[in-house]
Amino acid sequence: MTEHSAASPIRKIVIAGGGTSGWLAAAAISKVFGKNFDITLVESPEIGRIGVGEATIPTLRVFHKLLGINEREFMAHVQGTFKLGIEFRNWANKGDKYFHSFGITGKECWACQFQHFWLAGKKYGIDVPFGDYCPESKAARLDRCSDEDSGLNYAYHLDATLYADFLKKFSQKHGANHVEGMIEKVLISPENGYIKSLLLKDGREIEGDLFLDCTGFKALLIDGALNTPWVPYGHYLPCDSAIALQTELVRDPRPYTQSIAHDFGWQWRIPLQHRAGNGLVYSSRHVSDDEAMATLMKNLEGSPVTEPRVIKYVTGRRINAWSKNCIAVGLTSSFIEPLESTSIHLAMSAIYRLMRYFPQNEISMSNVEEFNRQSAVETDRARDFVIMHYHLTQRADTEFWRYCKNMKIPEALANRVQLFKDTAAIALEEKELFLNDSWVQVMMGQGVSPSAYHPIADVMDEMELKNFLGYLRGNVSEKVSAMPSHQRLINHYCKAA
Ligand code: FAD
Repeated sequence: MTEHSAASPIRKIVIAGGGTSGWLAAAAISKVFGKNFDITLVESPEIGRIGVGEATIPTLRVFHKLLGINEREFMAHVQGTFKLGIEFRNWANKGDKYFHSFGITGKECWACQFQHFWLAGKKYGIDVPFGDYCPESKAARLDRCSDEDSGLNYAYHLDATLYADFLKKFSQKHGANHVEGMIEKVLISPENGYIKSLLLKDGREIEGDLFLDCTGFKALLIDGALNTPWVPYGHYLPCDSAIALQTELVRDPRPYTQSIAHDFGWQWRIPLQHRAGNGLVYSSRHVSDDEAMATLMKNLEGSPVTEPRVIKYVTGRRINAWSKNCIAVGLTSSFIEPLESTSIHLAMSAIYRLMRYFPQNEISMSNVEEFNRQSAVETDRARDFVIMHYHLTQRADTEFWRYCKNMKIPEALANRVQLFKDTAAIALEEKELFLNDSWVQVMMGQGVSPSAYHPIADVMDEMELKNFLGYLRGNVSEKVSAMPSHQRLINHYCKAA
């Protein structure tokens, strides 16, 4: 089935919004298609960017490689630091902590993953933390890190505003046009309901064939003009508010994000080279803005260097991320919540998907439907991983945590958790974002203890298993002890010349 746009074939691509999503899209499209399309990004400095979104996951490195972005230049520009994972405090119980690293833990065999061998080791009294078998976890615990040559799997902490500026320069170099102006109206073609142009406050009209809506929570095109419904996630994800502010640095930056659970939500700490990003995510049903603010202020590590900002949001996803000739990218398309830093990844993933299903001439409904199907599956899966952190709490000390513990969860997630409890195996589909070790680390970190493991792990006798585990731990220790401190790595690798 093919729908015809008023002006086909596609020649003009208009990106509405110049936050991280808009500029990511402009960077990729201009690099790939720069010569063939006329690409224009419209943003309003009056409205500005949301300014949060400073923790990433390792997939961003792949994106940068595809674009040919130099890592050192990027790190210097965005005041970046390395991120080996996330430390979770007070999530299972008050006072405890665990680490979700980006690395591979131990060694798997073709039939089963490492957690089965680790569980078998416990039977013989080898009670060594799971993270001691993972270079990323161990390096994080010792505040060490290394660049890509070491084989570590890492992501970045970055200054979101500087990152958008960095991508802007990159995009302009590759031919993207930049228009500053306030979009006042989205004009629709009466023939087919497609977006025809964006009318700016100063009277300019920006016409296009394909529009990317990157206007953040405003969703001016996909929602404002095309009324594409939002599927809310609020019944699974109780938090709906955040307070964000920046503080001075009072210690060397840690090579990981911290997520500290409080009585009604959680707090993030994201260290950059020149300052730290901080915030509190909370449920307005369980706490007032004033009390949330007081909690954040009491738990800061350094003095604030910006005024706190309260951000209200509705978690969920667009029912169709692509509607007519408009594709939602970034916050216009979905928002899970920042716990596992999935948003920038999902924006990036939407851009890859658009590349894969790019309309040849006219927009074909089969392209659109496949794009929408994949977007929905991907976002719902990432959502489930985040829900799990809340649901598997053992805390019952506040109304908020009792709600999380007892709330109904999606069936697919309930099945995954049950499978792990019963067998220590992780149910994975093709091409999932969070792989075996992520699910294992979070489930075990939250106190889930499987009642059985794979029989292959019993093929080794006690001595063989002890030697095997000891050998793996030794390798990790040796690798990590050769790494510089995170601060030293930054000094050598990520400072502007
Ligand atoms: P925005 O940054 O809001 O950009 C919207 C753009 O649209 C702006 O340029 C604005 O000027 C423009 N615009 C809007 N209206 C108009 C108009 N009328 N005319 C012209 N231009 C207009 N993601 C992560 O990956 N990691 C994190 O750690 C993380 N933390 C977060 C914490 C919080 C509290 C929140 C709310 C989000 C977080 N996110 C995180 C999500 C992240 O902020 C976004 O994915 C990212 O910033 C991209 O935003 P965006 O570009 O979609 O929207």
